[in-house]
Amino acid sequence: MNLFADRLKNLGDETAFKIGDDIRRCEAEGLHVIKLNLGEPDFDSASNINQVAIDNILDGNSHYTDPQGILPLRQKIAEVIQETRGVSVSPDQVVVTSGGKPSIGYSLLTYVNTGEEVIYPSPGFPIYESWINFVKATPIPLQLREEKGYRFEAADLEPLITPKTKLLIINSPSNPTGGVLSKDNLNNIATLIKEKADPTIRILSDEVYDEIVFDGRKHESIISHPGMTEHTILLNSFSKSFAMTGWRLGYGVLPTVEEAKFFRQWNINTYSCTSPFIQAAGLAALSNEENKAIVSNMCKAFEARRDVVIEAINQIEGVTCCKPGGAFYAFPNIGQVCRKLGIMEIYDHLPPDKRRKTSPSTLFQLFALYKHGVATLDRRSFGLKGSEGQHFLRISMASDLDSLKEGIKRIEAASRDEAGFGKFIKEVKMV
Ligand code: PLP
Repeated sequence: MNLFADRLKNLGDETAFKIGDDIRRCEAEGLHVIKLNLGEPDFDSASNINQVAIDNILDGNSHYTDPQGILPLRQKIAEVIQETRGVSVSPDQVVVTSGGKPSIGYSLLTYVNTGEEVIYPSPGFPIYESWINFVKATPIPLQLREEKGYRFEAADLEPLITPKTKLLIINSPSNPTGGVLSKDNLNNIATLIKEKADPTIRILSDEVYDEIVFDGRKHESIISHPGMTEHTILLNSFSKSFAMTGWRLGYGVLPTVEEAKFFRQWNINTYSCTSPFIQAAGLAALSNEENKAIVSNMCKAFEARRDVVIEAINQIEGVTCCKPGGAFYAFPNIGQVCRKLGIMEIYDHLPPDKRRKTSPSTLFQLFALYKHGVATLDRRSFGLKGSEGQHFLRISMASDLDSLKEGIKRIEAASRDEAGFGKFIKEVKMV
């Protein structure tokens, strides 16, 4: 018998967490690394939120809760959905989760059988592909294209929808591209779903960056479109909007109470409930008016950084980068740089077993980290299927402006360092 179950072969990962080992190795060798790899706000949670959690712990609010989440928090979430998305949902359709992530796995486990098809954004948050593969569904990547500002149209989605399509995952604003779907995009997508998809289709709308939109935009959700509330699982989290990544608090809004009960049951089968004092703090995050200004100021800071970063990246020879409309990531195309440094040729001549595990943008990302001290993420970190032939990096803008400027300077230096790259590739025994 094998120690590990066969299903683990299909379990994916999140490079954002794994790259920490590489960074520690560089730092142990004395390199000061500029970390532009982080997917979390560099702001702390607001003190009014922190205080509520502390008070609740001191008051003994430390016991199990309703696995679906405390009623006052679910009521507040339903109210927020009504205010921001214009749809009426019952608190019994809301399930509080430990971070936003659980709703991804729960959706795959609840709706999708082996062999059924799941359409998901590529590049996209890597946990989508991990779960799709884990439940042995068929992954159908929906390519987000630079030339379209990483938006997709109903026409791009149409050919991917078949009678076997069970789940469509959308993520706007998007990680890693910062692309934002417009009201018109969503309207056309909703019309297409109604016309072409099986009536059992579910749309997992990952809206964890809903508060971080730029240029005066208003966040748009597919749930607001006629006929879509019945199909949509809205996934949201306190991690990004309220800078609460480590608190682990999020929620799903389900199309029906019956479906919410299954998400509740997944909670029961995994961690029982989210910590009561954290739920109390989440209620404060949504209720205390002070937080509106705090969230809006954080968003303004990201927007100001975006303006500086995108301009600086586009000045690097051989790099193009479109302007993200939300979230806090830039996703530059480094294809020309990979050509200039000879990475494409080196990659093409790698032995097949090594080539399968890397890509030109991965080689550049490792070179930039180990030799120029700047940490980013490669295209492969955002979905393997459909990543072939695409040469991009994700740069997180969740760092102060000086670090961002220095980081981009280092990427620029790496992009010119042909000799350094040749030496690096020999050192790591790639050739
Ligand atoms: N969805 C997207 C698109 C994300 O970028 C992330 C986190 O990076 C999550 C979901 C998970 O959020 P949480 O940390 O609240 O589980």
